[in-house]
Amino acid sequence: MKILITGGAGYIGSVVAEQLIAAGDSVVVLDNLSQGHRAAVHPAAVFVHGDLTDRPAIDATFEQHRPEAVMHFASHTLVGESMQEPFLYLGENVVCGLNLLQSAVEHQVRRFILSSSANLFDAPERIPIAEMETIVPGSPYGESKHILERMLFWLDRIHDFRYAALRYFNAAGASEERGEDHDPETHLIPIVLRVALGQRDKVVIFGDDYPTRDGTCVRDYVHVLDLAQAHILALRALDKGSRVYNLGNGQGFTNREVVEVAREVTGHSIPAEIGPRRAGDPATLIASSERIRKELGWRPRYADLHTIIESAWRWHRTHPHGYEGL
Ligand code: UDP
Repeated sequence: MKILITGGAGYIGSVVAEQLIAAGDSVVVLDNLSQGHRAAVHPAAVFVHGDLTDRPAIDATFEQHRPEAVMHFASHTLVGESMQEPFLYLGENVVCGLNLLQSAVEHQVRRFILSSSANLFDAPERIPIAEMETIVPGSPYGESKHILERMLFWLDRIHDFRYAALRYFNAAGASEERGEDHDPETHLIPIVLRVALGQRDKVVIFGDDYPTRDGTCVRDYVHVLDLAQAHILALRALDKGSRVYNLGNGQGFTNREVVEVAREVTGHSIPAEIGPRRAGDPATLIASSERIRKELGWRPRYADLHTIIESAWRWHRTHPHGYEGL
């Protein structure tokens, strides 16, 4: 199948593109490189340098490359930033998604996979969090994903659109060639590994007064290659109907525990100190992924946090400056 991947130069999009190509699919990457890296785009993918605020550029991409499906990764993705700059999220994320959806409908492309988020669940009644949990976005970031999920719901009804909304919990880890490289880096695992590489002095843990076992936030880390597998399974199943899945390993680790596992993996002392809370952070996010396991047979291959951090560490050591200079 030919798949248009927006954000295919970014962390998760580039790994999904790589895995689709390995599975024999063809890939067109549309990315404005505002956060992604040209070097992260698989050499067998067609690369289009374009912006989702530019409707004519999206239309031209559909017309020229005639994809049969779309995977939409391109997005502002930071909970903390969204609490400072809500319109980047409530505006740009939403408008870019809308442009892409309109163009897809107009070009009769009715298969779509959305990168959604665990930030839909700020106040879960039950943990692990299943798909039927009430949606209470934790920030404008989560709200922007919720709005796009609602658009998809209506497009399914009105235009026979077939979609999957994949709500990632915390993506981490790397493939052999592709890993996590943000500027500035704000995510816990790459920051901790940069301390181990000697590129930072310490990690500041945001808050230790949450209602969790050690007072720091709890997250469910899922390997980026397992996320890629979920995308491929969801793509193959789209013609049987739209679906929404929560994606995680069903196991939560506190921020302190993450630092401790990284100490074991790297052999570095990784100095950590406690700082204030970061706005928009729910205390505990752990996924129930029973639905995708049952319906699509998803089986994470790298579920263990040690293995996940080891794979991120391997990539960081072989790419100490990320994609810079590649
Ligand atoms: N975190 C932290 N220090 C950092 C970066 C992140 O304590 O320098 C915490 C953050 O507050 C959250 C967890 O680590 O509780 C995971 O955050 P991350 O940004 O990696 O992913 P998110 O959960 O926002 O998707």
